[in-house]
Parts: sequence; C-alpha cells; structure tokens
Amino acid sequence: MADIIRLLPDHVANQIAAGEVVQRPSSVVKELMENAIDAGATEIQLIIKDGGKTLIQVVDNGKGMSGTDARLSFERHATSKIQKAEDLFNLNTKGFRGEALASIAAIAHVEMLTKTEEDDIGTKIKIEGSKIVTQEVVVAPKGTSMMVKNLFFNIPARRNFLKSDQVEYRHIADEFHRIALAHPRVAFNFYNNGSDVFQLPGNDFRKRIVHIFGRKTDEKLVPVEEETQVVKISGYIQKPEFAKKSRGEQFFFANNRFIKSPYLHHAILGAFEGLIRPGTHPGYFLSLEVDPGTIDINIHPTKTEVKFDDEHTLYAMLKSTVKHSLGQFNVVPALDFEQDQNLDTPYSYKNKTVDIPQVVVDSSFNPFETAQPVKSNTNGGNYKKPKVDGWENLYVGLETSADSGASHLEFESEVVNSSIFDNEKEAVDHSTTTFQMRKKYIITTIKSGMVVINQSRAHQRVLYENFLKNITIKEAVSQQLLFPLTLSFSTSEISILREIKENLCTVGFVFGEISDDGVEISGVPVLVVESEVQMIMEQLISDFQQEVPGDSFSQSDMLAKTLAKTLSVKTGETLDEFSQVKLVNDLFACKETTLSPFNKKVYITVTENDIERKFI
Ligand code: ADP
Ligand code: MG
Repeated sequence: MADIIRLLPDHVANQIAAGEVVQRPSSVVKELMENAIDAGATEIQLIIKDGGKTLIQVVDNGKGMSGTDARLSFERHATSKIQKAEDLFNLNTKGFRGEALASIAAIAHVEMLTKTEEDDIGTKIKIEGSKIVTQEVVVAPKGTSMMVKNLFFNIPARRNFLKSDQVEYRHIADEFHRIALAHPRVAFNFYNNGSDVFQLPGNDFRKRIVHIFGRKTDEKLVPVEEETQVVKISGYIQKPEFAKKSRGEQFFFANNRFIKSPYLHHAILGAFEGLIRPGTHPGYFLSLEVDPGTIDINIHPTKTEVKFDDEHTLYAMLKSTVKHSLGQFNVVPALDFEQDQNLDTPYSYKNKTVDIPQVVVDSSFNPFETAQPVKSNTNGGNYKKPKVDGWENLYVGLETSADSGASHLEFESEVVNSSIFDNEKEAVDHSTTTFQMRKKYIITTIKSGMVVINQSRAHQRVLYENFLKNITIKEAVSQQLLFPLTLSFSTSEISILREIKENLCTVGFVFGEISDDGVEISGVPVLVVESEVQMIMEQLISDFQQEVPGDSFSQSDMLAKTLAKTLSVKTGETLDEFSQVKLVNDLFACKETTLSPFNKKVYITVTENDIERKFI
C-alpha cells in the first residue's frame, strides 16, 4: 500500500487550532487584550460592532513590533514570551503559546498596524484566511492596533453557530470586565456600535470595581487581606445582605489572570454559610498571588482553568480569611433575618427589673457536727434550708401572657394562603371537593377515581398561560405604586433590563427613568407585591443573563415562565378550601394541563381500579 500520511498545510493546521482558541468573538477580545497587556500598555481601547461579528479592534500604547516581528507574529508557535520549556514554570505574561494571532488570522480578515518606540516608521499588515494580502510601511503612533473583521468568514458552520448580537456582546462585556478587573492600573475604553460603554481611568482595585458595577457597589464591599508564605489573598467580598439571585459578580484572579475554580468557589460558599438566604449568591472579587512555579496555567487553551500545587491549603486559607473579614467588619451580627424567636426573652419579661440573688453564708456552719439538718426545718439545725415558697412566681408572665414568646414553643403558626385567589371567590365551582396533602398536593375526585395535583406546578401552569395571554393581547392590569421604587443594578444588568423592558411593560410593569445604575418603577403587575419587586427583577435578569432569546415570542415566553415560577404558590404553603378549588378549576381551564411550563408532570390520576388492586 502507498504511504498515506501527510503533514497538514499550515493554514489548515491553523484553522484547526483556531477551533480551540477562538470559540466566539469574545475569545478574540480576550486574546487581543491580553497581548496588549503583555506589551506593557497603559491604555487600551476596545471597539466592537454587531456583537464582534463584524468588527473587533484593540488599540494599545504598548511596546509595538518591528516589521519582521509583525510578520512573524502570525506564524504558529511564534512567541516572544517563552524560549524554553522551563520558562513555562515562571510565567509572568498572559500569553505564551504563540497560537492566538495565527489562529485568528486563519479565520478572519485581520489588519495590524504597529510601531515600536525606536522606529520612526510603522508597519501595516493585512492578512485574510492565513494569506498575507499586503505589508507596507506607514506612519503610525507607538503601539499596536489589531483589527479583526468578519470572524469565521471562511467557516460558515461556525458563523451560523454564533448567537444573537446581544448574546455575543454580553460574552464580550464579561471578558472585558474580567480583564479590566485584573488590571486596575491600566486605563480602558470600550465602544460598542459607536457608543461608549466604559471609560475606565487607571485606578486602584476598589475604584475599578465601583466603576464597572456602579456607584452603589462601594458600600457593599468588605476588604479581604491575608498574606502567608503560600499565597497572598487580597480583594473584596460583598456584604451578605447584598447576596443576589444572579451569580454575576464572582471573580477569582490568580496572578492577575481571571480563573474559574469551582473548588475555591466552594470555600467562599462555606465562609458565607448561614449568612445568606438559600438561592442567593455571594459576590466576591478576590485576587490570589502565588509563586508562578506552583500554578499550572497550561492545562486549557483559554487558560481560565488552572491547577494549583496545594489546593487544599489554599481552600482552607481562603475560607478562614473570608470568614475573618466577615466577622471583623461586623457584618455578621446584623444578619439575623432568620432569628429563632424561641431564643427571645418573653415579651412580658422585657421591662422587669432584675433581682440580684443574695448569697447568705452561715458563718457558724460546721460540717462535722452531727445534727440532722435536712429533716429539721427549725433554726435549731446548722443548715438553713433554702426558702422555696412561692417558686411558682418565677414563671409568672410566661404562663399568663398570651403574646409571650413561649407560645412559639408549642404551635407552629399556619399561614393559610388565600389572598392570591381572593378576588375571584364567587367564580369557584363549589361542587368540587378537594383536600390538601402535606402542603404539597391537592387531591380531588373525578368520575373514574381521583387526581393528585402538585400545587406549585399547577399554579405555575395557570400563571404562565395567564401572563402569556396578557402579553399577547397587551392587556395586563398594573397597580400604580404610591411612591415609585428606585432599584439599583450594575451596568450590565441595566443593559439586560433595557432589552426586556418592552416585554416587562406588557405584563404590567411601569418604568420611570432608567439610568446607568438604577431604574425607577412606578407600577407593577397586579399579582406582584411591592416588597418582592427587587427579588423578581433580579430573578428575571438572572434568567435572561444566561441568554436573551432573539425573537420577541421566545422573550415573552421566558418572561412568562420566570414570573410564573417566582409568583406561584410553593410547596409548604397551606391553601384554604376556596383556593384549592379555584386552583383545580383554573388548571383544568388551561390549554395544556398535564405539564408545567418547565415540562414537569402537573398531576397524576389514581383510578378506582388502581385502588381496588391494592386491596387484593
Ligand atoms: P503569545 O501571546 O502566546 O505569545 P500571540 O499569537 O498572541 O502569542 O502573539 C504572538 C507574538 O506577537 C507575541 O509573543 C508578541 O511578541 C507579539 N504581539 C502580539 N500582540 C502584540 C501587541 N499588541 N503588542 C506587541 N506585541 C504583540
Ligand atoms: Mg497572546
């Protein structure tokens, strides 16, 4: 048989490598910005168009490249950052693989303009799909400008796989945040479709955080600081009361590089345990500095997953340092939102004066005398029996006062939830008999037997169809708030809000002014309680943060789902008879009754036959 193995041509190899390095526009942003940082830039501009699909440009004032270097930089494994394998264990740069530019040039139209301090004249190179189109000398300022146009122009499958411009924009914004946070001293400007998103002057870490996440963030931050032989930990955590529904503001940096570490994240969760509500996430911006020889950055092409030599020690240290900060800055005691009422002083005791116990010592007491003190109650013995008459008085107040805290010991109060269905009581068909089981299921009879309905899922279905209908016919009823609410959000959260605002209006939210870090709300849907607005908004933003659906129908659908999930009756809530019957009737009036909006079974039926079989 003839030999069949061949070396792949460079441009094919580059395209394959690009598959790993460049997943989406934000990967290009990361590589280009990191190169600018490595070049020692103090000012970096990022300019993008159409979610980076049409244009990504990074302009820096770093050290630039000579004509020869400029040409070489696009070759695979061409790097100025390492020379030998040992250098890998002492890395101080973001890049080192020498793959990024070669990969990017293989799948886009690239234009580079660069000049060093010493040279009088700069170089301009145009390269498309790994082929050099032009190289010329030009007048240029010191530094480098990299323009990447028409990403994946030669790989339609990859191009079609990209998400909407908004989603790609958000990935880029995330990447921008990470790099800007990792390098607070460097100034950054960010322009999207011609308008400026961020103008960040070089600053300290705290100010950088505040610039990115909004003015209100400042008061939420608690500093963290610890230095040992293994690691230097510094940065900020957010006070527990500001824990959010969304997971957005969680950042680890290792040697000035953003990293993902589920393991270390767990350490932080441990430190916050018991201080935040279930279902909310603590915010943190933590920077770890370790000896470059004790960290392996080379385990993943995008280098966000790293390996520390001694992860267990790091875990323990991080946990205790964060705990210490939480305690030291006195944020813990203010957080008794789930205080155990049984531990409270009974109300009627609160204003009582304290009787100071008297210790009476019988100085004539002699233990060796043979009197029998216990039996004798006279003063003849040496032993004085303590006066116990009236000991019952100690408990006065506990037993007589109806509102004393002690009543909590015996009864768990049951809040019967009926309000949500109140306004429609008349409409309920009273011929239906229902029964609630374990505050979770509603049981009702049908001709052939009975149905067991999951109350939460059923209510989700009812609300979901209701919201969808309101959105479609644009007929939502909203309640005007007496005083408009002002809620604060970060810049990126606000940008999501702007995207979904129109749809939120159709379900009954009424918006006032929307600024860069806050929003005014003057009306809410009828079902929404004012005190829950912030929580609901956070949930909505968090859901949409994963991905904003492109077309307006799926946006409405997602909105209706989120609202249904948040507002529905939950397991553990007691429903009165009216509400039970109403829920059953509403459910069976729905278009789809068997599945919740999240495709979970809403009810099961148990036929008479099923029951009879059990009796055999
Ligand atoms: P790596 O960053 O892994 O070395 P790249 O492909 O990203 O590989 O870049 C190749 C080389 O091009 C770098 O090592 C560096 O010498 C040079 N280079 C790239 N971008 C810049 C820039 N913005 N300023 C100066 N030099 C740059
Ligand atoms: Mg690089």
